[in-house]
Amino acid sequence: MTLKFDIHARDGHARSGKIETAHGVFHTPAFMPVGTQASVKAVLPEQLIDLGAEIVLGNTYHLYLRPGLEVIQKFDGLHRFMHWDRPILTDSGGFQVFSLAQLRKMTEEGVQFQSHIDGSRHLLSPEKSIEIQRVLGSDIMMALDECPPGTADRKEVAESLELTTRWLKRCVESPKRDYQSLFGIIQGGMFPDLREKSLEQIAEFDLPGYALGGFSVGEEKSVMRAVMEEIAPKMPENKPRYLMGVGTPEDLVHGINLGIDMFDCVFPTRAARNGVLFTWRGRLHIRRQQYTMDDQPIDPTCQCYTCRNYSLAYLRHLNKAGEINSSVLATVHNLHFYQDLMKACRKAIEAGEWEGFYLERTELAESES
Ligand SMILES: [Zn+2]
Repeated sequence: MTLKFDIHARDGHARSGKIETAHGVFHTPAFMPVGTQASVKAVLPEQLIDLGAEIVLGNTYHLYLRPGLEVIQKFDGLHRFMHWDRPILTDSGGFQVFSLAQLRKMTEEGVQFQSHIDGSRHLLSPEKSIEIQRVLGSDIMMALDECPPGTADRKEVAESLELTTRWLKRCVESPKRDYQSLFGIIQGGMFPDLREKSLEQIAEFDLPGYALGGFSVGEEKSVMRAVMEEIAPKMPENKPRYLMGVGTPEDLVHGINLGIDMFDCVFPTRAARNGVLFTWRGRLHIRRQQYTMDDQPIDPTCQCYTCRNYSLAYLRHLNKAGEINSSVLATVHNLHFYQDLMKACRKAIEAGEWEGFYLERTELAESES
């Protein structure tokens, strides 16, 4: 079976529901922790389950280069290899090729690149991306798209989105495992009419889900939000909508308000390793002197393992001492906070109280910035 999406409640554009895959169910709106190298940095799969994560993301580009497909094939895919038997989404590898690899050359066939690890040469084509994701065995696979830089002009963006559509056709025609669902990606940069054009072309394929790509690539946040407000509510109504790689708590709440169902971002895990922690009253920096003697948890309302057992003073000490457990405890809290935020959003939507919740969260974000 491919995935099954049920919407339980709607409030304005916001929706609450669930997605069933061959490896289990996840609830939407969903935040997916990023497991770039088949590992969510600083946390074990059991901890991810304990903090409420229901789906994780793996990166095709990284896993293709290291450990390579032969290794993952031996384990029949990522689920067994990384000891995570719940849903997995993999990206196409395109974004990393465009952001990490050296000496790229774009052709109709695909993108030639040199590995950032050892300089070896590769071609990532739509067929190759799907072949890699088939070996990875993810539940949701992403189509290969071209992601032009935030500085690209209108002509480049217009040509690029047409290429993305031609590549999607090749992705659709490439063999997959029976249970795998392919999502198409809407491009079009910061030009609302090009976004609509891309949406029309991509939606024609009648896929199990759709994503917005090419956001948070260097544009002003106000510009990103204005374009999202135009395009997100026009995405196919009864299919999951995924906003790729965008992920402050404010961004998530803003996206949900426009009808987005799925998010991923390295932000909460990276912030944790940098000592930035999220709370219901805003974010805090654990290195600050003011926490030296503080015996309170990060957030008194948080039920995560870290908040149940550790004080701000101890967490500050671990961070200052460069202890590995500083990253572990901070990541457990931040990811737990993100899952709690998603739960609170779902609850507000189901109770018909979304607008009040949204305004409250937006005011907090404005008071912080
Ligand atoms: Zn906590």
